[in-house]
Amino acid sequence: MPEKLTTAALEPVETADALVIGAGMYGCHIACLLRQQGRSVILVDREPELLTRASYANQARVHNGYHYPRSVLTALRSHVNFARFVEEFRACIDDSFQMYYAIARQHSKVTARQFERFCLAVGAPLTPASAGVAARFDPALTEAVFAAEEYAFDAKKLAAEMRGRLAHYAVDTRLSHALTALVRTEQGLEATLQAQGQESRIVARHVFNCTYSNLNRVLAAGNRPLIPLKHELTEMALVDVPPAMKDVGVTMMCGPFFSIMPFPSRNLHTLSHVRYTPHGAWHDRPGEPLRHLHDPQYFQKSSRFAHMVRDAARYMPELAACTQRDSLWEVKTVLPQNENDDGRPILWKRDAEWPQLVSVMGGKIDNVYDMAPEMATLLAEES
Ligand SMILES: Cc1cc2nc3c(=O)[nH]c(=O)nc-3n(C[C@H](O)[C@H](O)[C@H](O)COP(=O)(O)OP(=O)(O)OC[C@H]3O[C@@H](n4cnc5c(N)ncnc54)[C@H](O)[C@@H]3O)c2cc1C
Repeated sequence: MPEKLTTAALEPVETADALVIGAGMYGCHIACLLRQQGRSVILVDREPELLTRASYANQARVHNGYHYPRSVLTALRSHVNFARFVEEFRACIDDSFQMYYAIARQHSKVTARQFERFCLAVGAPLTPASAGVAARFDPALTEAVFAAEEYAFDAKKLAAEMRGRLAHYAVDTRLSHALTALVRTEQGLEATLQAQGQESRIVARHVFNCTYSNLNRVLAAGNRPLIPLKHELTEMALVDVPPAMKDVGVTMMCGPFFSIMPFPSRNLHTLSHVRYTPHGAWHDRPGEPLRHLHDPQYFQKSSRFAHMVRDAARYMPELAACTQRDSLWEVKTVLPQNENDDGRPILWKRDAEWPQLVSVMGGKIDNVYDMAPEMATLLAEES
């Protein structure tokens, strides 16, 4: 359990080996890893539940590599992580549907032949779809359709799984606690937290900033240099699909097209579209206000479902019968260097002057495995 110590100001301050900010998939995973190594850990999140932000409001695809023909490294890592993630989180996986990847005849950045060669190189299984399935697509717009092996995760089951693990490892978890300030003291990094109007402070040897789209807001709270990040306000429509689509997911490759696939935690499908899902993009810049999801000054959430479904139905006419039930809104954050190749490497960035402050961000849920080498280095430094 964290001890209490008294600072020069004579205020009680708790201590821990590590403070993890953000209880999404990354923060929960890191907190468990640290406890496994015997470290005392406090995990905080400003939301009242675990995994409510990007770890919930996403497409729920367990990537197997297909999505990344322009970044072979990401495709290979996805393929490797896919098997491990499916095995480790078996109870959270929906593999009851068939995923298809179709190649558009026009404006696609890959041809069917290139896509086949790429999947072969990555080791991702791919077979031509049956004639009956291919006939569901407009042949004038669709060059080829392939059956692929890809699944979806149930974000609510994943949250329950992580809740169980945090309890198992006795991670001191504090929800509805927002980090508001960070300073370096002789004892370590001192974080100020706000919870229902009450302020508290924690001094930790290491602070892990796992706040995804909010990484730079946390860094700004410590007056630390920002990390170059690109953000998009995204909308994925949650839809009821016609009966023949219930057990089907489709991604039209590779460019300004659509994806539709099961979203198991709501028993609906997500419909996203490369052109209509992003409602605006921006970069964090020093000296400029840092935007957030609920900022009405920047974001007016007016659904583009009608545009998404109209375009998707040109390729697969039966999709015109989808009905919108809701939309998931979230800020998607990517590294600017991957804007063009769509790569999703893990970000593990230690502050140059405060190396005990580590910012971690993965572009996919299953990237959690990619931070193992850096975590091992950090732990080895102390032993
Ligand atoms: C539209 C979209 C589609 C996506 N599709 C997929 C997909 O199909 N498959 C896939 O694998 N990945 C997908 N991703 C990426 C995936 O969602 C992220 O890689 C992953 O969820 C990041 O997890 P995280 O724990 O870093 O972030 P989050 O889950 O966002 O967790 C960050 C936490 O930090 C907390 N926080 C922020 N600021 C503070 C503060 N000051 N104090 C305390 N707590 C704070 C937040 O409340 C939040 O809970 C998608 C993302 C988006 C946005």
